[in-house]
Amino acid sequence: MNIILLGPPGAGKGTQAERLVAERGMVQLSTGDMLRAAVAAQSGVGKRAKAIIGRGDLVSDEVVIEIISDRLDQPDAKAGVILDGFPRTVAQAEALDKLLSDKGMSLDAVIQLDVDDEALVGRILKRAADTGGARTDDNEETLRKRLGVYHEQTAPIIPYYQGRGALKSIDGMADMDAVSSEISAILDGGAA
Ligand code: ADP
Repeated sequence: MNIILLGPPGAGKGTQAERLVAERGMVQLSTGDMLRAAVAAQSGVGKRAKAIIGRGDLVSDEVVIEIISDRLDQPDAKAGVILDGFPRTVAQAEALDKLLSDKGMSLDAVIQLDVDDEALVGRILKRAADTGGARTDDNEETLRKRLGVYHEQTAPIIPYYQGRGALKSIDGMADMDAVSSEISAILDGGAA
C-alpha cells in the first residue's frame, strides 16, 4: 500500500508516518529529511538546496522528483511507502502519477491532515524549542513563509486528488492517537 500524507508544516505528517513505519513496516519517504541529509553531506544537491530551504522556498520540482524516483527504485519501497512532504506542487503530483505507473506501483490513499495555521505556528515553535533549534527553518519568519508557500503552491494539489476521489481529509487538530486511529481506519477499511 502506497499513501501520501498531505498537510502544511507542523500538521503532524512526520509523527504519523513514524507510527505507520513502526506498526506496519511501511517505509517513510520524507523529501524534507532527504534534502536535509543532502545538505549535511554537502552534496551538489545539498549545496544548491541549503539556501532555498533556509528561506522557506521550495526546491525545484526536477530535483525532488529525481530524488523520489531513485528512492522508489530501492527494494524496500516494495513494502509500501508513505510519501511525506511530496508531492508539494501540481507538477510534482503529475510527475508522481507517471513515476508510479512507469514503476508498476499504485497510489492507495491521499490523506490530508486538516489543521489551523495559527495552531501550527505554536506547534512548530515548540518543536524548535524542544529540539534545541535543530532545524534552522523552524523560526517564526521562515515558518510563516512556508505556510504561505503551502497555501499557494501545495494546496492546489487537494482538488487534483479530490477530483479522482482519492482524497481523505481528517482532523489534524485532534490528539495524535485520534489522528492515528483515523488513518488506520482509512488504511484498513477505506473509511473516510
Ligand atoms: P515541513 O513540512 O515542516 O515544511 P519538510 O521537512 O517537509 O518540512 O520540508 C522542509 C523544506 O524542504 C521545505 O520548506 C522545502 O524547502 C524543502 N522541500 C521538502 N520537500 C519538498 C518538495 N517536495 N518540493 C520542494 N521542496 C521541498
